[in-house]
Amino acid sequence: MTIDGKTRLLGLIGNPVEHTLSPLIQNGICEKMNIPSVYVPFQVQKEGLGEAIRGAYALNILGMNVTVPHKNQVMDYLVDVDEAAGQIGAVNTLVRDDNLHGYKGYNTDILGLKRQIHEDGISLLRQTVVILGAGGAAKAVTYLCLAEGAEKVYLLNRTLEKAESIADSMNQCFSDKQESTVFDAGSSGSETDKKECRNPRVVPMALADYGEIKESDLIVFQATSIGLAPNVLDVVIDDPTFYQKVKVGVDLIYNPANTKFMQLVKEHGGKAYNALKMLLYQGVTAFELWYDCKVDEKIVADLYTELKRKVYPKDNLVLIGFMGSGKTTVGKELAERLHMDFLDTDAYIEKQAGKSIASIFAEDGEEAFRLMETEALGKLRDTLSNTVLSTGGGMPLRPENAGLLKEIGTVFYLTAAEQVLYDRLKGDTDRPLLQEADPYKKICELMKYRKPLYRAAADVSIDTNSNDLEEVIADIIQAQQRGMR
Ligand code: NAP
Repeated sequence: MTIDGKTRLLGLIGNPVEHTLSPLIQNGICEKMNIPSVYVPFQVQKEGLGEAIRGAYALNILGMNVTVPHKNQVMDYLVDVDEAAGQIGAVNTLVRDDNLHGYKGYNTDILGLKRQIHEDGISLLRQTVVILGAGGAAKAVTYLCLAEGAEKVYLLNRTLEKAESIADSMNQCFSDKQESTVFDAGSSGSETDKKECRNPRVVPMALADYGEIKESDLIVFQATSIGLAPNVLDVVIDDPTFYQKVKVGVDLIYNPANTKFMQLVKEHGGKAYNALKMLLYQGVTAFELWYDCKVDEKIVADLYTELKRKVYPKDNLVLIGFMGSGKTTVGKELAERLHMDFLDTDAYIEKQAGKSIASIFAEDGEEAFRLMETEALGKLRDTLSNTVLSTGGGMPLRPENAGLLKEIGTVFYLTAAEQVLYDRLKGDTDRPLLQEADPYKKICELMKYRKPLYRAAADVSIDTNSNDLEEVIADIIQAQQRGMR
């Protein structure tokens, strides 16, 4: 972008700020909306906070984000604080107010989580909620739950006193309110619903006492720091009897994409989400406050894809192997279990080319098809996230494809003996390469050449000879988890 006299400055203050994802979000919005602004992180020490805020105003900075460790203390230097942010006791967004000659503080973390749960179809109205943790994030989530009309909120923490303190202040705050309408941005549920849900209760509990919660169909927010990468196998509660009662789990951690907490929720039949969208939406909401605008949904969706690529550079699972090795069956099942998308490269190429693989082979030849595969991988490398990718049997034949596959994700080679492949494929008339008098001989010939190429292209080999789908899925998940350790 061109920086000139009309360029406005936006920024982030915190310490540290080196690893922040906010510039990607904010500069991404500026660029996509063609707004002449630049967003820059500033490392600010505690003792310099007041000076930084005054200096920012003097420099005509339009808006700022605030991160750790300044979210509480920054309120001392603001001309106004939004009600929700004041009750939560944390501000992460400053909006310039030239009438008041300073900045007004908001908490867009919680507005971001609110947008995420609405988008994911989670309603808190009249629900029993469990919040694990009682730090800054848990306090904000407690506020959201009460504001959204939750019936009861169990606040569980290792240090009981912290849960008690949040419960006291939130119960007090909401007993003072007539209705649960507390966000400017509007709330879900009808007015009648909201009136029925006045004075919901927050119940503080020691973490170890989770067994005392008798209700089922729980909505659980995981708001501790347990399970954060690289400690991806850790989870704050691992008891299956707890997860049997969970309807929905939201982990405020977004790295890894599929935390141990989320896996346990899903294993017991619940739906589970991480909070990467919360991160994105806190940024989008901040931008909308700065520019008094609405960021287009398409821009938000594109930014989400970019954010996922940045945070989870290798979060895709790629399946390679000979035709009949089970890539499609295994891939679809794996995607379902892990809440990932599924994509087949052959289907992708057919869509791009507007004709079937058989027609491409017949009309353009195998070489042209192999080129299409390489082009497809190049595009997928730049766009794919949280996807199980099933590939055509000849995909690793071109040396450049092997490299691209590894850039896309963890590559699993599904192995099977030639006889097993033949038994699975015999009678299949859709495979151009097997339309021979002796398909078994053709399989053996092709495998002799391809086997070393499959092995070289793979990160992990998975034996599928047993034809046992459960076993194959379990082997892949275990291998993936071992790789993340
Ligand atoms: P925090 O204030 O430091 O609180 C940490 C919480 O984790 C406390 O409740 C603490 O319990 C608990 N905890 C830590 N170690 C524990 C252990 N070994 N066993 C049991 N409990 C333990 O942190 P926070 O700001 O609330 O953040 C919490 C999580 O939310 C972090 O992982 C953060 O990354 C995530 N978050 C995500 C977003 C987003 O945009 N997605 C935004 C904000 C936060 P004690 O009180 O007993 O120490």
